Amino acid sequence: MELTPDIHLVDGVTCNVYLILEPDGVTILDSGLPGAHTRILALLQSLGHASGDVRRIVLTHQHIDHVGGAPALVKATGAEIYAPVGDTPAIEGKAKRERPRGPLGLAFAVMIALQLRPTTVNHQVAGGETLPVFASEGGLQVVATPGHTVGHVSYYLPARRLLFAGDAYRHADGKVTPSPKMFNHDTPQAMRSLASLCALDVEMSLPGHGAPILHDANRLIAEAVASVASVAR
Ligand SMILES: [Zn+2]
Repeated sequence: MELTPDIHLVDGVTCNVYLILEPDGVTILDSGLPGAHTRILALLQSLGHASGDVRRIVLTHQHIDHVGGAPALVKATGAEIYAPVGDTPAIEGKAKRERPRGPLGLAFAVMIALQLRPTTVNHQVAGGETLPVFASEGGLQVVATPGHTVGHVSYYLPARRLLFAGDAYRHADGKVTPSPKMFNHDTPQAMRSLASLCALDVEMSLPGHGAPILHDANRLIAEAVASVASVAR
């Protein structure tokens, strides 16, 4: 699905995967479950790009539905991986992968053991860095939004008032809500990260799950933070 002429959403790969098409190459933001590379590369091809055009895979966090497609994408494209420093040990298979609590966690553990392969992170980010993506517009900035996972980050392009939010929130039925507790590493920290996004000027926000927010994202995020605060009182 075309969101802007240079940003496309890959449908049907569990988490939202975004293709960023620039004259100097393609960036893939998050990578879906293991096996998602087939759909991602098929869409890329239909847009007139070869797999060799992919220069970067930019990850928001370590969860299997966001990093699962990355090893096969690296193999097919030779792209370099950018990922949060806090989540890098898990992505590289050197630390236990975070997964949901409860019975769903057990299903995830099986899926992780059977399907998820570790992959090398070429560039670790923690927040405050500027990536060579949308470089002609000032570059994509890394924003630390920990809590959903230990190292979760979001990516922000001030020139377009555009935020790639990962799982810093969910978007459904026109409302932004915090990520469900069962999926979070530290829910109070995730809430503080969500509140911190209110400081950014955001019109379009592209989450890891749910429909892209094309307009007025600031208001929706602020409403989510206010509603959680009123419940907590
Ligand atoms: Zn997640």
